[in-house]
This record gives sequence, C-alpha cells and structure tokens, in this order.
Amino acid sequence: MIRIESLHFHYPGTDFQLAIPRLSVAAGEKVAVVGPSGSGKTTLLNLIGGILTTGDGEVQVGEVRVNALPDADRRNFRISTIGFVFQDFELLDYLTVWDNILHPYRITGALTLNGEVRDRAHGLAEQMGIADKLRRRPGHLSQGEKQRTAICRALLTRPALILADEATGNLDPDNKIRILDLLFRSVDEHGATLLAVTHDHGLLQRFSRVVDFSAFRSGAGDAA
Ligand code: ADP
Ligand code: MG
Repeated sequence: MIRIESLHFHYPGTDFQLAIPRLSVAAGEKVAVVGPSGSGKTTLLNLIGGILTTGDGEVQVGEVRVNALPDADRRNFRISTIGFVFQDFELLDYLTVWDNILHPYRITGALTLNGEVRDRAHGLAEQMGIADKLRRRPGHLSQGEKQRTAICRALLTRPALILADEATGNLDPDNKIRILDLLFRSVDEHGATLLAVTHDHGLLQRFSRVVDFSAFRSGAGDAA
C-alpha cells in the first residue's frame, strides 16, 4: 500500500533532514510510528499524503506515485483515498461539526454526497460520542471532541489508507480505546491500511508492527 525508496527531504532554510532508504507497508497492515518529537513523523505523513513533495526519491501509495502527480490531482487523490487525522485537527472554525465531517465531499468531484453518506456520518458521530455536538462550531469543543470530529471526517470516505497523527493524544483512556477500536475496525472491515503516529506505548501491542523513527534521523539502516 505504501512504498518509499531513497526518500530525502529537508525544509528549505533549516538543517532538518529526513532520510528514509526504504519503507513498505502492505495493505491491511496496522503500523505504529514512534519516535522523539521533532524527528519527522508528521513530515513523513505529509509526504505520504502528498501535502509535501520532494523530487528526491519515490513515494508510492497503492499504484500511484504521489510525487509525480500534478497539484490538483494530488489533492483529489488525497481526499478520496486517504483519511488524514492531522495532529492539529485542521477543522474549519466557520463550519459546524457536521459540516466539518462532510467537508471532504464538498471539495472534490471525486466523491458524491448522498443519503447513505449522511447516515454513515451520523453513525460515526454516534460511535465517537459527539452526536449531540453536530451543530456546534469547533471553537466550542474540547480538545478531545475536536479530535473525535477530525476522526469522523477522516473515516467517512472509507479511505484505503488512514494516516493518523497522534490521534489518541488528547483523549482519556476510555476514548482512546474507543477510537483505536474504530480505526482498527475500519481497517478490518474495508481492508484499509493504518499508519498511526503515537506516543502511547501502552497501545503498541495492538499494532501489527512498529516503525521507530530514530532509525531515519541518522540516515543509516533500512526499516523494513
Ligand atoms: P514530529 O512530528 O516527529 O514531531 P515534524 O515532522 O513535525 O516532527 O518536524 C520535524 C522537524 O522539521 C522539526 O525540527 C520541525 O521543527 C521542522 N519543521 C516542521 N515543519 C516545518 C516547516 N513547515 N518548515 C520548517 N521546518 C519545519
Ligand atoms: Mg508530529
């Protein structure tokens, strides 16, 4: 599902370097990504999701070479194929929770909003415990509620790939389990693939594999 080869990336004007000789994730895998703050975990997710690009190396998702796509195609590809749970949520403050959840369907012709999607959105909101908050705006939500809104939005499209950036970071233990269950169920039910950054070492045994980012900073060694 994900294949990275000889990837090099740096932010212009900084000395941050990310070097990933090789990383493959098979369809259906549930991979946890761990590593110190500032080691480039979010950067990697942005490269896989095509939010950042580099001319240096291969980033392939499914059959698509993300780096080679023109901007508009890359955006459509991301919205319809990838469920992205951003570390800072990226909710739109001027939209209600409901409209935030449906947002992917309103910004690309690649997805069609219909009654079935709305039903699914209600179902997800219910499972996430935010069904009573759908008319609120993000400014009136707790951090955990914002996060659960972001997760509903990410899962609504039934993405083939879920990229979750510390998606359980702001949650109490019960909600952590609930969200992880929901992410894993999406993987199992739709044959999706999950790449999840987490600092929560208590959750790691539930993943099929752990990728440790310390390996990439040195630029040495291959990660399978
Ligand atoms: P992590 O998610 O592992 O904490 P990040 O990928 O967010 O790490 O950041 C990796 C490094 O790149 C950090 O040193 C961070 O300060 C830097 N960085 C992140 N985003 C940018 C940016 N847009 N421009 C310049 N430097 C950035
Ligand atoms: Mg990060």
